Amino acid sequence: MTVLDATAQTADGITVAGEPCVLIKLGEVVLKGRNRETFERRLQGNIRSAVRDIAPVEIWRRHGVMVARVGGGTADVATVDALAERIADVMGIVWVHRAWRVGKDPDSVVRAALDLMSGRTGSFAVRSRRRDKRFPLTSTEIDRLVGTKIVEAYGLPVRLKNPDHTLAVEVDRDEVFVYTDGLPGQGGLPVGMSGRALVLLSGGIDSPVAAYRMMRRGLRVDYLHFSGMPFTGPESIYKAYALVRELDKFQGGSRLFVVPFGKAQQQIKSSGADRLAVLAQRRLMLRTGELMAHRLGGAALITGDSLGQVSSQTLANMTALNDAVELPILRPLVGMDKVEIMDTARRIGTLAISELPDEDCCTLLAPRRAETRAKIEDLRQIDKRLDAEELAERLADSAQEHRPAYGEGAA
Ligand code: ATP
Ligand code: MG
Repeated sequence: MTVLDATAQTADGITVAGEPCVLIKLGEVVLKGRNRETFERRLQGNIRSAVRDIAPVEIWRRHGVMVARVGGGTADVATVDALAERIADVMGIVWVHRAWRVGKDPDSVVRAALDLMSGRTGSFAVRSRRRDKRFPLTSTEIDRLVGTKIVEAYGLPVRLKNPDHTLAVEVDRDEVFVYTDGLPGQGGLPVGMSGRALVLLSGGIDSPVAAYRMMRRGLRVDYLHFSGMPFTGPESIYKAYALVRELDKFQGGSRLFVVPFGKAQQQIKSSGADRLAVLAQRRLMLRTGELMAHRLGGAALITGDSLGQVSSQTLANMTALNDAVELPILRPLVGMDKVEIMDTARRIGTLAISELPDEDCCTLLAPRRAETRAKIEDLRQIDKRLDAEELAERLADSAQEHRPAYGEGAA
């Protein structure tokens, strides 16, 4: 048993007997055996790199949870709060708590609980659990002991349903964690666990959300953006850059590849593609993406297509797009409504960036009536006339790499 005698002061000036730390609840803990080991190791590494700029941390793996503490237990509360906020963006975590680490004995638990509840008004409930049963009290006994002490000290009413404050007590192997608040995590799987893929990122609302959803399923993603350059300004590139910088909080180390697409679009137009121009161009984007994915070690392409949202996103047209490449095209938004997509975009911080004005490269090519039931044979003919394979090769070679990092350039 470790003896802990740390104290620290909260932002409200209350001194709490315990060491401030971050208690991390893991997602999908149903995973068993080797998978679970991989999950936890990957998550541990991802957390460590996410908080590298804030403080050097130690991350302990416990049963179903992890603990992040500032090296040597020297943290102040503000640093721990900053850690918790960053960790809440790391994929594979369902809940993040700013917790206090105290000695594994009832007295230490009561002392910290009283400190944490001091100055509060309203009703409360204590919820205890034991991950390690070697503790003199059962969970029910802890609830009762701590609850009674809080009533005696502050006269607050106990309310088990919808209390104003919930005080959690979690008994662990070497210590007890006590906390009152937390941040919801993103859920899902640690980035990197499912491999790597390439996102086709426009400046729009949908593709950043698609990227988010696939990162959440454990994919590490690279980004590919086609600009209308040299026939448009660089605005769409700035937007793509800003979007990747925001999305980088979910994985770190993001790479954005930008391909000037204006001249290729001109070629498509003069190839007589006519009503098929939009699809021909999307096939060319996918072909280019496939070449780049191979170079980057990506095993799939990701797009923001949502069934029926725009005329190029009919089932027939999606089939015609799939025909252009061999890699699977992941479309995580295929069954989502625009409202749901926008809600997610708002929550993950990309909506405002996507709504900035720009000159979408696609508008250069908008035919009067777009084809909704493209014939694959016709598209293959256009590809032949364009020498799409060769063209895609040249486009991939022309890609410029950027490394937008979360937090960089922030005011
Ligand atoms: P978004 O909101 O993501 O722009 P959208 O609803 O505007 O999507 P489309 O314009 O048909 O739909 O594009 C469908 C998908 O094709 C996008 O989600 C994106 O994955 C890809 N895409 C379109 N334009 C570009 C571009 N300029 N660069 C890279 N990918 C693109
Ligand atoms: Mg778009």
